[in-house]
Amino acid sequence: MPTESDTGYDPELGRKFVFVTGGVMSGLGKGITAASTGRLLANAGFDVTAVKIDPYLNVDAGTMNPYQHGEVYVLKDGGEVDLDLGNYERFLGTDMTSDHNVTTGKTYQHVIEKERAGDYLGNTVQIIPHITDDIKRRIREAAEGTDICLVEVGGTVGDIEGMPYLEALRQFSHEEDDEDVLFAHVTLIPYSQNGEQKTKPTQHSVKELRSIGLQPDVLVGRCEDHLDAETREKIALFCDVPTDAVFSNPDVEDIYHVPLMVEEEGLDEYVMEELHVADEALPRGERDSRWRDLVTRERTGEIDIALVGKYAFEDAYMSIHEALKHAGIHRNVDVNALWVDADEMRDHHTERLREADAVVVPGGFGSRGSEGKVEAIRHARENDVPFLGLCLGFQMAVVEYARNVLGLEGAHSAEIDEETPYPVIDLLPEQYDLEDLGGTMRLGAHTTDIDSGTLAHEVYDADSCTERHRHRYEVNPEYIDDLEAGSLTFSGRANNRMEIVELDDHPYFLGTQFHPEFRSRPDRASPPFVGLVEAVLDRADMTEREVEA
Ligand code: GLN
Repeated sequence: MPTESDTGYDPELGRKFVFVTGGVMSGLGKGITAASTGRLLANAGFDVTAVKIDPYLNVDAGTMNPYQHGEVYVLKDGGEVDLDLGNYERFLGTDMTSDHNVTTGKTYQHVIEKERAGDYLGNTVQIIPHITDDIKRRIREAAEGTDICLVEVGGTVGDIEGMPYLEALRQFSHEEDDEDVLFAHVTLIPYSQNGEQKTKPTQHSVKELRSIGLQPDVLVGRCEDHLDAETREKIALFCDVPTDAVFSNPDVEDIYHVPLMVEEEGLDEYVMEELHVADEALPRGERDSRWRDLVTRERTGEIDIALVGKYAFEDAYMSIHEALKHAGIHRNVDVNALWVDADEMRDHHTERLREADAVVVPGGFGSRGSEGKVEAIRHARENDVPFLGLCLGFQMAVVEYARNVLGLEGAHSAEIDEETPYPVIDLLPEQYDLEDLGGTMRLGAHTTDIDSGTLAHEVYDADSCTERHRHRYEVNPEYIDDLEAGSLTFSGRANNRMEIVELDDHPYFLGTQFHPEFRSRPDRASPPFVGLVEAVLDRADMTEREVEA
């Protein structure tokens, strides 16, 4: 048994581990499957957490392009992480820290720093054992104080980059008792042309796993439909697991229904049995059923919200889509987010914007699409259309007002137009001398004080809010007096930083320098999003009454 000092091994930390690997191809939704299983374990009374392993060499997701990887999710400690962590936070209802996202960049950086400091006492520093030890240490530390830790390995078994992780997990499983570790492998079951479910790709990926010393305990087959009995038997036989360890994961329309499906399949029960915790689980009738109640509640209406962004890729704005959905759940309506291309604001995009019940302008970096965003904000402001601006959306709302109400022609954010005569949005004062991209942002949870008697105060129903940030630029203090001379108010501030903007002569016009979407949960919808949905419903009520009258 390794000692505590060389692997971080401490049997007191984290009791049970579920390792989730993927086979055949990536993008099978193994994160959602894992998070859903975690939700059910939490419903049964366990304290559940998760670790996402990203085998890429980036230290974190902060510098990654949303078009390739989807949004950069921001944690309360300021960690810029893979969007899967957002799903874990939303499904498990917990707040995580950067330590829950293990990347190759972080691991190697740490080991190399230790090597430079002479901590390895002259030894050759190697992937095995030094990198693998560091991986194991990170997993154990993230699991500390919880009952069950889900560990999802990004990518697909067989990727070169994933190898050190799988080796670390192999070692890990030998360091723990058998009943404390479970390996679940999620693979794809495609259909042949004559409609037959094919297991060969699964067989190959399990063979690959076994060749590195890992035997899955559970297999989950992602398939359009439920797996046939014959398919399950075949997988069981070739992959050396009992038939009842093979589960279906058919397509569902709404990812929030995956926990219900996993429960129907009995995957949660199987996991609890295998981990020897079934006796500690709450009896079925006493389990937390809030999730089921929320996601199956009947909706009484539907509203359309224009999301004016530059990426036609839903994952790039994942948390905003989720937050809109949560606000819809809160008010029992379906919220459709319609993408409006901020870069090509014409034809059906303009039409969509004009027909939408509300407008959301999300965060972003760089100039592309900024004029389209300003136009969309103008449309919302002038036509009393409920509006929510997030981070860059907040900044563009200030720019729009400066240009079109105060007449400051050419006003802009210095990020987008360095030469602007009116830099109403500029670098944070302490950022002037910093250039190292990625390291200079104002990140994570900070508290905003909210003025009483304002829309923001009504929305939050509180004197302050603590929300997550990710920005470099902010309202230029030199323009605050001019900006506030008319109907615009900065109703939320953090010392001298302007955090919330609103207009008094508009039914719902709110911008936030922070990103409230990252704290939104299915059972704790984010106030600015709820406010937006309510404004739409109030307006619809009004119109109905006007029509009746
Ligand atoms: N690019 C802007 C800034 O850095 C806004 C950032 C964002 O929208 N997340 O301040």
